[in-house]
Amino acid sequence: MTGFETLAIHAGQEPDPTTGAVVVPIYQTSTYVQEEVGQHKGYEYSRSGNPTRTALETCLAALEQGTRGLAFASGLAAEDTVLRTMLSPGDHVVIPDDAYGGTYRLFAKVLERWGVTHTPAALGDLDAARAAVTSSTRLIWCETPTNPLLGIADIAGLASIAHDADARLVVDNTFASPYLQQPLTLGADVVLHSTTKYLGGHSDVVGGGVVVQDEALGEELAYSQNAMGSVPGPFDAWLTLRGIKTLGVRMDRHCENAQQVVAMLASHRAVAAVLYPGLPEHPGHDVASKQMRAYGGMVSFRLKDGEAKALDVCRRTKVFTLGESLGGVESLIEHPGRMTHASVAGSQLEVPPDLVRLSVGIESADDLLADLERALS
Ligand SMILES: *Cc1c(COP(=O)(O)O)cnc(C)c1O
Repeated sequence: MTGFETLAIHAGQEPDPTTGAVVVPIYQTSTYVQEEVGQHKGYEYSRSGNPTRTALETCLAALEQGTRGLAFASGLAAEDTVLRTMLSPGDHVVIPDDAYGGTYRLFAKVLERWGVTHTPAALGDLDAARAAVTSSTRLIWCETPTNPLLGIADIAGLASIAHDADARLVVDNTFASPYLQQPLTLGADVVLHSTTKYLGGHSDVVGGGVVVQDEALGEELAYSQNAMGSVPGPFDAWLTLRGIKTLGVRMDRHCENAQQVVAMLASHRAVAAVLYPGLPEHPGHDVASKQMRAYGGMVSFRLKDGEAKALDVCRRTKVFTLGESLGGVESLIEHPGRMTHASVAGSQLEVPPDLVRLSVGIESADDLLADLERALS
């Protein structure tokens, strides 16, 4: 197999056949000429297909070792399309008990009304996952590492539980990126991304991606992508492709910097706990070591002095920018309870109020450490 970094730069991105342009052009067009009725070069209308988007979709499929990649207007648009293609009213889904807040909201507020039920379960525990499966379960939906608690789920284990129940496994691989973890190779049926995060990598575009191995499922999802229409525009597809080219080197640095931040936080007197799968005492450490290349750039921690201290730390950092989202080159800090995960307040998925989440960027590690030290003091 061609190496990951080579695929990131070249898969789907041969020089433009008409002009020789080395970089895939932004095909900013909605429609395409037909020589005669029905005779065209493979493109008719840009909701159905656009060459810039095709390049991104081909690249995504290569990076996740799937047969079909599909790009969407956002991660949630990708989720919605997957769910309303693979599920019908009356079906049941097992979801993580610490799912991304927007994912939970989609299940609780939209799909529930549409007749799809869900059960949150601690998917880091395979027995708990198995116990949540019912005779109407059609999907297990998993994130690993989870957002924001950095829990780890055993992808191969969940895939066999799903398949035993005649259900399928979807893995939201946003936190790891395909550089660190490739769920399809571990038995998952669908891998999904908010490409807004590490794949795009520069906090300048919102997007989603789906990759599957099974060609028939790929066809069904492609049909829905066109029928439901939540596609990205060509410029957004181009920005995402441009980000992907450096995914490998960025992830290496994200992981190195995160490791240093974790070491500092773990020995800091204001910190009650550090949540990071790279720590040997993390309950998912062994599984993470088996299924991931490294442990990623996301770090969460809890403060001894509760929510007030957590809010104070978020207010005081300068290099870590206070903001939602993650996975960009710049470091971000946020308070999940009041920001990204406000939509799960009062539910079984509520997050601790003393929790702070960091997206460790690729700035100089010394500056990141000094910034956190100052904010914690
Ligand atoms: C951000 C995020 C999403 C949603 O993606 P959008 O691009 O914001 O729609 C889904 N899953 C995870 C894990 C995320 O972090």
